[in-house]
Amino acid sequence: MQVVKHINDLQTILDGKREEGLSIGFVPTMGALHNGHLSLVEQAGQQTGFVVVSIFVNPTQFNDKGDLERYPRDLQKDVDLLTSTCCQLVFAPESDEIYPEPDTRQFNFGTLEQVMEGKFRPGHFNGVAQVVSRLFDLVQPDKAFFGQKDFQQLAIINEMVRKLKLPVEIIACPIIRESDGLAMSSRNMLLSPEQRKNAVHISATLFEAANKISGSSVEELCKWVTNRINENEYLDTEYFEIVDSVTLLPVNSWDEPCVKVGCIAVHCGKIRLIDNIEFK
Ligand code: AMP
Repeated sequence: MQVVKHINDLQTILDGKREEGLSIGFVPTMGALHNGHLSLVEQAGQQTGFVVVSIFVNPTQFNDKGDLERYPRDLQKDVDLLTSTCCQLVFAPESDEIYPEPDTRQFNFGTLEQVMEGKFRPGHFNGVAQVVSRLFDLVQPDKAFFGQKDFQQLAIINEMVRKLKLPVEIIACPIIRESDGLAMSSRNMLLSPEQRKNAVHISATLFEAANKISGSSVEELCKWVTNRINENEYLDTEYFEIVDSVTLLPVNSWDEPCVKVGCIAVHCGKIRLIDNIEFK
């Protein structure tokens, strides 16, 4: 496995692999890798001939400066983890390599970017689109792998690929959880032991809610989830919405003919955690 920091090295290697006839699989990450990320790498290894992982904490997608400063960074540890996977190339650029000049592009994703995360993290998805489109341009992957943990982000990426007609296939990968159910996240390592113990209440409540749809309306269930999580003194729900998985607009009734996903963001002290679950 090679680790490169510069675009010209990245592209020289990738040109060679394409000449060998290998398809390129790409997993963009912000590092602080865990098994959720590694599941994407594994999928990429199964579906493509040469796997590239990028590690770049993208400043343009952080609307909260404290969150950017706190974000965990340990490149050596990430590289060590990736060594035992099917990743063949790590691209770990500095910021000026990705943004030699400020990226002023404004994307428009309509309601997809206005709901949920979009409401509470203004500019976040524009930053995500900036970095992912830039990375796609540099890597030119055949397939790129994203986690359903970031459900809205996946919808935005799919829309970006559709709108810009990018020649890449987006592969959605399921949420990987800790053994107690908490969705794996780089931010989990910022939780204190007490916070970590209580954070499990988020996924536990979502699992319980998924079993309650026959007895309650959508509105009642949304209230129940929010109240139940907020009963825990360590947790403060920012939003919980049950949405149409394609439009991301709120669902009013279980009878609506769409796939329904409950998406949640919860503050645990200063750390903001997200999760989601399908309601079937
Ligand atoms: P991040 O480094 O947090 O930007 O995440 C990089 C990629 O890993 C994104 O596509 C995420 O959706 C995905 N990811 C993060 N956590 C998980 C998880 N627990 N399960 C599956 N995919 C994940």
